[in-house]
Amino acid sequence: MTERVDAVVIGGGVMGASILYNLTKQGLKNCVLLERDTLGSGSTGRSSGLIRMHYSTKVNAELSWKSFPYFLHFDELIGQQKPQFIKTGFIAIAGPASTEGFYKNVSIQKKVGIDTNIIDLKQAREVAPGFHFTDDEVFAWEPQSGHGDPSGTAMAYAKQAEQNGARIILKAPVNEIRIKNDTVFSIHTEKETFETEIAVMATGPWSNQFLSKLNIDLPLTATRHEVFFIKRDNNLLLNHPSGADMTNMTYFRPEGNDMTLVGNGNREHVVDPDKYNLKPSMDYLEDVWLRLAKRMPAIAKGQYFTGYAGLYTSTPDTHPIVDKIDGIDGLYICTGFSGHGFKLAPAVGICMSELITKGRSDFVDITALKADRFSKGNQNEISYGFRVIS
Ligand SMILES: Cc1cc2nc3c(=O)[nH]c(=O)nc-3n(C[C@H](O)[C@H](O)[C@H](O)COP(=O)(O)OP(=O)(O)OC[C@H]3O[C@@H](n4cnc5c(N)ncnc54)[C@H](O)[C@@H]3O)c2cc1C
Repeated sequence: MTERVDAVVIGGGVMGASILYNLTKQGLKNCVLLERDTLGSGSTGRSSGLIRMHYSTKVNAELSWKSFPYFLHFDELIGQQKPQFIKTGFIAIAGPASTEGFYKNVSIQKKVGIDTNIIDLKQAREVAPGFHFTDDEVFAWEPQSGHGDPSGTAMAYAKQAEQNGARIILKAPVNEIRIKNDTVFSIHTEKETFETEIAVMATGPWSNQFLSKLNIDLPLTATRHEVFFIKRDNNLLLNHPSGADMTNMTYFRPEGNDMTLVGNGNREHVVDPDKYNLKPSMDYLEDVWLRLAKRMPAIAKGQYFTGYAGLYTSTPDTHPIVDKIDGIDGLYICTGFSGHGFKLAPAVGICMSELITKGRSDFVDITALKADRFSKGNQNEISYGFRVIS
């Protein structure tokens, strides 16, 4: 069956869902989202859900800050029940080797308007009692930050997009984007064909599979990352804020009343997105748990609860690609979030919908996220230890 539609969004992660909703807001009501499996079945469903603003570039800081109101007021701004947001505060910690970059980052964030402050050792001890700090470390504190519900957010955007007239088709892997005269012509699944002039690839770790079919070469890799939960002894450490620890290369947040999620440890391995180990490895658990215990000594006495691995879609400068594809009219790409896409999704959806309907994004200047920055040598600066935190 062939149908004509305004636009096709490929991929039902939090990005695809946010883009779909925002396209309907821009007046493209007859849109379709095609998802190979279920909503949130890619990186979104395995995300740690951290929502913080500590970034080293204006574009990421601004995307996270301008997304933040949507996590706080999703119901008023989008019209669906608000997905869970838990405010925990967020502490960023850096050692002496990173101090200069750290201060620079915070000054970028403050210029964007972010609610963040450099705090001293005494204040750090107040916001994070039970943490071990050294005299030569520096700290930034975001009182409003916390964590949200990535799959719930994707669902809520999708639901509102449907109410605005869009359609979502699950278990519908796209197998071809057909191009005619250097313009998007049609999108094909096994069962459906949609004729359209606009297609958005929001396919996360699978993006390269499309790009290579279209002879487009972008430096995107699917990388595997592990996270796990530790049940704390609440008598030793009742609660703690979320944070990123550049000294020990971990990020963490509380979960529920007595658990801690921890991740990262600066380890990443490129994998095939259809074939990777979903379980965390013993050596990772040991290594990252020990690092976390250097910051939170009481966690050493916790119990392992559960863990899993998921995929980042990584780029060499850890910034996403949010752009149109040069040389193919109507084809857009939105991926490469390198482990921090969830918290940016509300703003990115708006930017992408503006780019598609108006030819430019006014909400946030996304020039720094252009696809050709890698070939033109305009990559974004990656500052010190923040390379891989979520
Ligand atoms: C372990 C882990 C922890 C993370 N922690 C955080 C965090 O704390 N904070 C944060 O902000 N971010 C975090 N992230 C990153 C964040 O989850 C991702 O950046 C975000 O979810 C990316 O969303 P997406 O929609 O681009 O990709 P995905 O969620 O991967 O969505 C892509 C979708 O495309 C679909 N698809 C692929 N190929 C096809 C096809 N041929 N046809 C149809 N559909 C297709 C897939 O099935 C998938 O559903 C984390 C990620 C991981 C893995």
